[in-house]
Amino acid sequence: MAELLLPSVCAGCGGLGAAACESCLAELASGPVPVAPGVAALTRHDGVARELVLAHKERGRRDLARPLGQALARALPRLPRASPDADGTWWFVPVPSRPSAARARGGSHVMALARSCAARIAEQGGAAAVAPALRLSARARDAVGLDRAARMANLAGRVLLDPDGAPTPGTPVVLLDDVVTTGATVEACTRVLASHGAVVTAALTLTAASRTVAWPRHRVKHRHLSPTRVIGELNEGGRR
Ligand SMILES: [Zn+2]
Repeated sequence: MAELLLPSVCAGCGGLGAAACESCLAELASGPVPVAPGVAALTRHDGVARELVLAHKERGRRDLARPLGQALARALPRLPRASPDADGTWWFVPVPSRPSAARARGGSHVMALARSCAARIAEQGGAAAVAPALRLSARARDAVGLDRAARMANLAGRVLLDPDGAPTPGTPVVLLDDVVTTGATVEACTRVLASHGAVVTAALTLTAASRTVAWPRHRVKHRHLSPTRVIGELNEGGRR
């Protein structure tokens, strides 16, 4: 109970008043930026944005699900191919975590983002649904340190469709995740959804840890990143 009485602390800057302050959330507001075909991220996995993502994912800051999910919702109109279904309902599919990781975190952190994203649309008078259509086999290992080829091999046959959670075939869906690293996970998820009739119109993530993205010049932070640090960030981004 005690923590309910304490003021929120911004996970990005430590300021008092909100789970994420307006200044830190502004770091997520200028995108989305294309990362790979059909995949976009709000910003790069760096600085304040990285802090927010890691606090939500690894440090139990579930109070960040609401502002981060809202940031995803705000970006939807700027995704050229993303669309709701014929009835106007947006469908979101969260990228699954390994079962053991989700248990350790007290539930799927990406599911929490997707629910918050859908809630934002509903608050604005729209319609949205979260389809828990995918799960990751317990046989999938932690992706930390794996390159793209190794990630693809790790995921082969291990991203599974949950028929009870899937929308009807032909439904356009937006795949959501917190970090995209090599794109292997998004690709595997898209393939499984497509093979069961869903139409993945876009994949959207909070941040991208990819080194190959041509970020807009004003978004690039001019600070030195040692190779060790870059690899560390990629590893953090890859932990499912
Ligand atoms: Zn802040």
